[in-house]
Amino acid sequence: MKNLVIAIDGPAGAGKSTIAKIIAKELNINYIDTGAMYRAVTLKCLQNNTDIKNEAEVIELAKKTEIDFKDNNIYLDGKIVNDEIRTIEVTNNVSNVAKIKEVRYLMVNVQRIIGERSSVILDGRDIGSYVFPNADYKFFLIATPEERGSRRYKELIEKGVEVKLQDVIDDIIKRDEIDSNREFAPLVKAEDAIEVDTTGKSIKDVVDLVLQKIK
Ligand code: C5P
Repeated sequence: MKNLVIAIDGPAGAGKSTIAKIIAKELNINYIDTGAMYRAVTLKCLQNNTDIKNEAEVIELAKKTEIDFKDNNIYLDGKIVNDEIRTIEVTNNVSNVAKIKEVRYLMVNVQRIIGERSSVILDGRDIGSYVFPNADYKFFLIATPEERGSRRYKELIEKGVEVKLQDVIDDIIKRDEIDSNREFAPLVKAEDAIEVDTTGKSIKDVVDLVLQKIK
């Protein structure tokens, strides 16, 4: 039987990973958090004191980097880095790493290999528009910047990180700007994607809506 590919794209904080994880469980398929891959490369750059503005250096490092997913863990060169990739430092640098075309080629290659070996739901920015243009189902999740910012803010506060709500909203807007305006495979809604505005909707509402379209 053909593998099922479901693409969930959208801006930061729109609820993509929360929804994708639940759908993956519900359908018993794999979940790939593609943002985690770009975050892992960014983490490695920061650990190695690589100047992120120096594209050649970032590309060189990315080529020597092994990224994998197993049992919902992200591995950077064989080590689980689930928490390390979520720091504010990584978040504030990731879009400048992700805009480098050669870095994207490397990540997309891994995503396509994983997507071809099993049924999968992937969340990201360019899954429906570039990585899997023939995906079986494509969703584009959106929400107002204020709602997306306050979701992220709550997550960070729960983790004990001290932040200001306005700073979180500003950072999200800045990241979306870089992601939307990069030259290669930007954040964009694929023409045939179903747009879901999650503003004011519960997780269950969104999951039900997505499942309705799939089943
Ligand atoms: O999804 P998350 O917010 O963790 O993604 C982190 C960053 O990785 C995004 O802001 C974007 O710069 C990059 N990204 C991307 N393409 C993807 C997934 C994430 O460029 N498919």
